[in-house]
Amino acid sequence: MHKDDLKALVTQMYTDLLEQIDGEENATLEQIRIYLDDARATVGSIDEHRLDSLDESKMYFTNSYKELAKKSISSYQNTNDQFEQIADMHKKAVDEHCSMIDLPKLTEHFNTIQTHMTDEVKKANNVIAQLAKQVKELEETSNLDSLTKVYNRRALSSYLHEICSRENVNYEIHVLILDIDDFKVINDTYGHIAGDKILIFIANILRKTLRDGDRIFRYGGEEFVIVLNRIDAILCRSITTRLLELVRKNKLIYKNQSMSVTTSIGTTCFKTGDTEDSLMNRADKALYKAKNNGKNQMYSEVENGN
Ligand code: GH3
Ligand code: MG
Ligand code: MG
Repeated sequence: MHKDDLKALVTQMYTDLLEQIDGEENATLEQIRIYLDDARATVGSIDEHRLDSLDESKMYFTNSYKELAKKSISSYQNTNDQFEQIADMHKKAVDEHCSMIDLPKLTEHFNTIQTHMTDEVKKANNVIAQLAKQVKELEETSNLDSLTKVYNRRALSSYLHEICSRENVNYEIHVLILDIDDFKVINDTYGHIAGDKILIFIANILRKTLRDGDRIFRYGGEEFVIVLNRIDAILCRSITTRLLELVRKNKLIYKNQSMSVTTSIGTTCFKTGDTEDSLMNRADKALYKAKNNGKNQMYSEVENGN
C-alpha cells in the first residue's frame, strides 16, 4: 500500500467528517465518535497486499459511509426524539393529570370537609349530651324507667312508703324481687344492647302476665320488684312460678341469635309495722336464698318463715 493511497484515504475521511459536521445543525461528539469508529473499521478492513481492497474500502467508505453515518445519526436522533417525545408526553400527562385533580384545591376541599365533619360531630355530641341531660332530668321527675317503661325505683320507694304508712291493711300484699340470673354473662356474650333487650323482654313478660292492680318496678340494673295486692301465699307462689316459667321458656331473638335467660325470685309479705327497708330486706334475703339454692327458682320468705 502506498503512502499516497493512505493519505488519500485519510483525506477522504477527513473531508467527509467535516462535511458531516457542517451538514448537521447540532453536531455532537457522539456523531464524531461514530464516524471515527466507522473510519477505523474501514481502515481495519483494508487488506495490505490487495490494492483493490483499498479502492473497495475507499468506495465503501465514501459511498456507503454517508448512508451508514446518517443511519447512525438518525437512529441516535430518533432515539433522542423518542426520549423527548416520551418526556413531553409524560410532562403533558402529568400536567393534565395535575390540572384535572388540582391538588391544592383538592387538599383545600378535603380540609373543608374535615372541618365540616368535625363541626357536625361536635354539634351532634352537644345534642346528645343535652338530650342525655334532659332524659336524666325527666327520669328524676318521672316515675317511669326510660328503658323498660315500668315504674322506676323512686316510684317504688314512694309506693312502699305509702303502704307502710297505712293504718290498716286488711288484705295481703306480697313483694317479689326478680333478678336475672348470670346477666353479666349475657352482657359479656351478646353485648350490652342485647342485655338491654333482655331487660325490655322481661318487663314485657311481667306486664302481660300480671293483673292491673299489681305494680312492676325496675329496682336496679337487672332487678325488678313486683307488688301483688290482695292475694295469698298460694296464689303468690303460683304467679311466681308462672313468671319463672314464662321467662325460662320464651326466647328472645336478637340479631339472629336466640337468647334465653332464667331468673330467680325472692318473695315476702307485708307485715304491720314494716318499713320500706324492712320489707325490702326480707325480700332481698329471700332472693339471696333462691340464688344460693341454684338460681332459676323462687324462694318464699313467707312459706319458710325466715
Ligand atoms: P346473678 O345470677 O348472681 O344475679 O349474676 P349476675 O351476673 O346477674 O349479677 P351481677 O350483679 O354479677 O351482674 C349484674 C350485671 O347486670 C352487671 C351489669 O353490667 C348488668 N347491668 C346492670 N344494669 C344494666 C342495664 O341497664 N343494661 C344492661 N345491659 N346490663 C345491665
Ligand atoms: Mg342483681
Ligand atoms: Mg343477676
